[in-house]
Order: sequence, then structure tokens, then C-alpha cells
Amino acid sequence: MAKAQETLLEIDLKALRHNVEHLKSKLKKDTKFLAVVKAFAYGSDAPAIANYLQNNVDYFAVAYVNEGIALRKSGITKPILVLHPQAVNFETLISNNLEPSLYNTKILNAFIKVASKENQKDYPVHIKFNTGLNRLGFWENDVDYIMSKLRQTNTIKVASVFSHLAASEDLDENEFTLNQIESFKTTSKRMINALGYNPMLHMCNTSGILNYPEAHFDMVRSGIGLYGFGNSEKENRDLKPIATLKTVISQIHLIEKDETVGYNRAFKSDGFLKTATLPIGHADGIGRQYGNGKGYVMIHGNLAPIIGNVCMDMIMVNITNIECKEGDEVIIFDQSTTAEHLAEKGNTISYELITAISQRVQRVYVS
Ligand SMILES: *Cc1c(COP(=O)(O)O)cnc(C)c1O
Repeated sequence: MAKAQETLLEIDLKALRHNVEHLKSKLKKDTKFLAVVKAFAYGSDAPAIANYLQNNVDYFAVAYVNEGIALRKSGITKPILVLHPQAVNFETLISNNLEPSLYNTKILNAFIKVASKENQKDYPVHIKFNTGLNRLGFWENDVDYIMSKLRQTNTIKVASVFSHLAASEDLDENEFTLNQIESFKTTSKRMINALGYNPMLHMCNTSGILNYPEAHFDMVRSGIGLYGFGNSEKENRDLKPIATLKTVISQIHLIEKDETVGYNRAFKSDGFLKTATLPIGHADGIGRQYGNGKGYVMIHGNLAPIIGNVCMDMIMVNITNIECKEGDEVIIFDQSTTAEHLAEKGNTISYELITAISQRVQRVYVS
């Protein structure tokens, strides 16, 4: 890849292939694999990632209907589960052949109503149960109600029954997670008995895949693992971050003692200093929490801390001891100094940093 002449998010498709193969190697042969490509495939580019993965996965998931429509427009024909649909979008969901997660009475009834109006028969839906995350999902004691609704209509058919783990990455919460798994087993058994057919069962996200093989059921749902992050140092060694964020030095300044740098004069120099101004700021996804010495970039292998406040379109970094010139390449994160490292400096997790890289940053692909 040629060196960056502007801010770029470089996506390594070979690393993506490696990650999907690695995660699939943890599964039994007939366990299905769902690729979670919500939030622009965790900040990379959902249509491009999904098209690359399409022949290697069984299902896709997005959070919202408009994300599913973008995938259909880009030629994705595999089933797409919409994890958090809103009733106002059910007509477009159906016309784009997207499959809703139905997680409460209101959304179940709203979907049956729209599906009936559209003369659907056996439209695939996914029934979500809450087993302890307390975010979305029916409770176990809703099974009778769900079944009473399903018996009154042939417009929908249960393609899967699923739940979501609250702390699959945290082995200190092992007991809680095992309780979630038991609760899911009980509820899904009741659903299967009442339905008289076998919908798919699924529960595990990436950390669940790695830590709870007994809970793989018929399918697993992986997001962060595809993009190269696991839940421990050891697993991170088996996965490869797919994204490298790079930019260039726009301008170099020589700063004297007692001068200040940036808005609010947040940085005050106590001696001679050399700074580089870079064309990337909080509107690109590098939040203000990375300012004032918390975050850093890399220039020719050296760490250059961000000084002063992060601006909307720029950051200034300290390059006093780094030999570099205007136009030189700058790495924000890559496959060795990863987004996870930088996220820690900003008191957050890789998920937040990578999904925040805004649509203003051009995506390029290497394979
Ligand atoms: C986002 C999400 C996932 C993917 O989780 P990762 O930790 O990124 O693998 C799986 N299932 C549900 C319901 C989600 O919302």
C-alpha cells in the first residue's frame, strides 16, 4: 500500500479472512456462523465486509433496518437479522426481505399486523429472550403469550430463538453466565415443544464463542472477533485487527517556552517544543478524551502524544524528539499498536473507538 497522503482507514481483507477462519475453527462442523456487521461493520464498511464474507458465513446481523437496506442494495442475498428494529420500518423491512428480532409484546403484535396486511405467510422472525442482560427480550413467562399469538396466525414463522450474554468476556462472572445459559435452555425447550418444529437457537457473541463452547447451540453471532479483537491477551494473539488508521503531517511548528497550543490554550509549553498538526479530529472519531497527553500517534515507530485539546478536524502532537517532516505518514492505530491500546488511554474499549471512525474518513482495502 502506498503511504497515506490524507487520513485513511485501511482494511486488511486477508486479516478478516484469517479471523473468520479462526473463529469458525472453534465451532463444531455444523454450527452456523452469523457475522455481525452493524454500525458500518464496526466502523469499517458493512457492504464491503459483507460482500467479502458472504460465501463464508450463513447469516448477517445489523442493528437497524436502514443498515439492512444498505446491505441488500450492495448485493447481499444471505439472510439478514435486524437486531433492534422499530415498528415504523416494518414495511420496508419486509420489502427488503430482512428478518426482525421480536423482543416484546408490542413489537410482536406490530409485526404480525404489518405482515398480515402485506399478505405474508411464514415470514421468518427471531424471538429474543432476556436471560439477564435486561436490555431487550421477552421473559421466560411470556412463552404462553407468544405461543397464543403464533397460533392465531400463519403470517410469521419462528426462524430462531435467541438470547444475549451480559458478561461473556468476564470469567469472574462465570456463574451468572452459566445461569443465563441454563435459563435459555429451559425457555428454548419450552418454545420448541410448543411450536412443534425446531427453530435455530443462538446465544454467543465473540467472547461467548471463545469462553462458552457449550453454549454455541445452532449458530453463533460474532462481531468484534471478525474485526480482530478477542477478550484476552492470548486470544488477541490469534486474531488480527483488520483496520489501520493513518494520516499525514500537515504542518510542523516550533514552539517557545510559555507559548500555548490549541483551543482554550489548554497546553502551555515549559520549554522548546516541536509539534505536528494532523488532519484528523473529533469529527473523524478521535474524541476529546484522547487530548491533553492521554492519546498518542506513531511517527516512524515513535510515540507522539496528543497535546492540547482535540479539535474538530485536527490534532497537534509532540514531535520534539522525532525526526520527521511535513508530508510524512502518521499511524493512529494498526495491527501491532492496536485500537485496543489507544482505546484504553481514552478510558474506553476497542468497540467504541473503531465504531466512532466517522464516514468522513475514506476506507481503502488491501488484500
Ligand atoms: C453486537 C451484538 C453481537 C456481537 O457481539 P461481539 O461482542 O461484537 O461479538 C452479538 N449479538 C448481539 C445481540 C449484539 O447486539
